[in-house]
Amino acid sequence: MNESQEYESQEQPFQEEATNVNGNKRRLTSDVWNHFDRKTIDGEVKAECKYCRKHLAGSSRSGTTHLREHYTNRCKR
Ligand SMILES: [Zn+2]
Repeated sequence: MNESQEYESQEQPFQEEATNVNGNKRRLTSDVWNHFDRKTIDGEVKAECKYCRKHLAGSSRSGTTHLREHYTNRCKR
């Protein structure tokens, strides 16, 4: 019945997009998330330190600078 549509879907123009997988680009999700768990508390995204369980702002809008500073300088692991 819909053979013409099926044929169309095989012609995807996106097959050459393999470059992102190779890690050439800097990852947007940075390695701070190896040290924090992301949690949603009262509708706010929080980063919970895996070592001291402290909660810090964790939304992507907040950035990750303060998180990195926490585990590199402040946190007594
Ligand atoms: Zn900590």
